[in-house]
Amino acid sequence: MKSVAVIGGGITGLTAAFYLRRKNIPVTLYEASGRVGGVIQSLHKDGYIAEFGPNTILETSPKIGQLIRDANLESRKLDPDPKAENRYVVRYNHPVAMPGSPLGFFTTNLFTFKAKLAVLREPFVPARRDGKEESIAEFVVRRLGREFLDHAIDALVGGVYAGDPNKLSVQQAFPKLAQLEAKYGSMIKGQILGVRERKKRGEVAKDRAPKFSFDEGLQVLPDTLREILGDSVQLNTAVTKLTQTAEGWTLVLRKEGREISAEHSAVIYCGTAHRLAELQIQSKTPVSAAPLSEIRYPPVASVVLGFRREDVTHPLDGFGMLIPKIAGFKILGSIISSSLFSNRAPAGHVTLTSYVGGERYPELAALPAEELYRITCEDLKTLLAVRGEPTFQHCVFYPKAIPQYNVGYGRYRDLMNEIEAKAPGLFLAGHYRDGISLSDSIVSGCNVADRIGIFLATDETQIEHR
Ligand SMILES: Cc1cc2nc3c(=O)[nH]c(=O)nc-3n(C[C@H](O)[C@H](O)[C@H](O)COP(=O)(O)OP(=O)(O)OC[C@H]3O[C@@H](n4cnc5c(N)ncnc54)[C@H](O)[C@@H]3O)c2cc1C
Repeated sequence: MKSVAVIGGGITGLTAAFYLRRKNIPVTLYEASGRVGGVIQSLHKDGYIAEFGPNTILETSPKIGQLIRDANLESRKLDPDPKAENRYVVRYNHPVAMPGSPLGFFTTNLFTFKAKLAVLREPFVPARRDGKEESIAEFVVRRLGREFLDHAIDALVGGVYAGDPNKLSVQQAFPKLAQLEAKYGSMIKGQILGVRERKKRGEVAKDRAPKFSFDEGLQVLPDTLREILGDSVQLNTAVTKLTQTAEGWTLVLRKEGREISAEHSAVIYCGTAHRLAELQIQSKTPVSAAPLSEIRYPPVASVVLGFRREDVTHPLDGFGMLIPKIAGFKILGSIISSSLFSNRAPAGHVTLTSYVGGERYPELAALPAEELYRITCEDLKTLLAVRGEPTFQHCVFYPKAIPQYNVGYGRYRDLMNEIEAKAPGLFLAGHYRDGISLSDSIVSGCNVADRIGIFLATDETQIEHR
C-alpha cells in the first residue's frame, strides 16, 4: 500500500493529511516542533483566550466550510459579534471608522476631497498594458494617488503582510487587483462587474467574506485534525533529507537527537520556505531549493493585553484598527479581540491584540517583553484612551513571521514548479506558494491532497503497464 509523508503540522499539512486519510491513502505527518498548528497559537490563561497568530478564518472558498463540516466542528464555530463591524484606520492621531458604503465614502473625513475625486477618476485612468511587474505602492499611486497609499493601503499592507508596499508585488501579493485592471481596465469597474463571475466560482471577495473562529480559539482546528489523524502524526520529528528511490522517497528524520529513515511513495512539503531551502533534496534530476532562503520573512511580535473595561474610554465597537506608517505610531495595528468574540476576556474586561515589527520596524519585534508591553500601552493610551495598567499581558515573538511576495517573487514560484517537475512525487504546498492567509493555506492543503491522489493513481497505472 502506498503511503504519503506530509512534512509540517501547520494548517496546510494537517488539512492535506486529513484529506489523504479520507481518500484511504496511508499518511504520516512529521512535525519538527512539539505541537501542531504552526503559527496558530491560542493561549487560555486567567479567563482570557489570547491568539498570537491568526485571529479569524475568512470563508473565501467553499472548501473552508467543507473542512469544518468534515472535521465535525460546526457546533464549535464562533461567528463574530455583528456589533464589531467597524474597521478603523488611524488618521489625525485617532482611529477613524472606514466607510462601509459609497455614501459613507463621500462623507467620511478619512480622505480629503482630492482623494475622493481620485476615486471617481479611477475608471478613466488608462490601464497599464506593458506587462511590467509593479509594487503595490506604484500601482496605487498610478491609479488612485499618493493619499490612498499613505493613509489606506500602507495601513492595510502593514496589517495583512506586516509588509512594505514599496516592495510587495501587486501581481504576486494582490493578484486579484492586478487582474481587475487587466480584465476591466479599472479596479472600481472590476469590483462592480466581477460580482457575477465570483459568484459562479463560489468565491467571496476578501473584504466581504464572513470570518469566524471557534469557542476555544483557532487552535481548536489543528488540535481536532491532529486527534482525527491519531498516531499518523509524529511530533518532535524534523525531516532533514529527501532521496528519490526507484519506489518513491527515503526521508532522513531527526528525532530525539537520533537520525532514522522512513520510506514513502510521495512527499508533501508544507513547512516554510526558509526550512525548505535547508532541506537536502537528492532527486534523480538534480535540483536545489537553496535560493528560497532569500524569501524575506520579517519578524513580528504579537502582544496581547487585557484591561478593565472602565479603563478604556473608546467604545471598542469594531473589529480592529490599522495604522499607516505616516501616522507615527510604533504598533502596526490592533485587533479588538473581545469585541469580535466576547469570551476572549473575563467579564468586565477587554482584550486587545497588537502587532509590532514587520518590514516597517523589524528591530522593534525582538525587544524584551516588558519593552513590548510598554510601547504598545503607550500607543493604545493615545489611540483608544486606555488609562489603567494591563490586567493581562502576554506576547509571542515570531522571528520569521510572514513571507513577503515582493517584486520578483515569480522566480521563486518558477523554482517551486521546477522542483516539482524534476523531483516527481515531491509536492510543495502552503503559505509560501499559494497565498499567505489561513484560508489560502487550507485551500492549498485541500488541493495538494487532490494532486497527490491523481499522482498516485497515475503512478499505479504506469507500474501495471510496465
Ligand atoms: C502573527 C501572525 C498573524 C496572522 N494573522 C492572520 C490572520 O488574522 N488571518 C489569516 O488568514 N492569516 C493570518 N496569518 C497567516 C496564517 O496564519 C498562515 O499563513 C498559515 O497559518 C500558514 O500555515 P502553514 O501550515 O502553511 O505554515 P506554518 O503555520 O508556518 O506551519 C509550518 C509547520 O511546518 C513545520 N516544519 C517546517 N519545516 C519542517 C521540517 N523540515 N520537518 C518537520 N516539520 C517542519 C514547522 O515547525 C511548522 O509547524 C498570520 C500569521 C502570523 C505569523
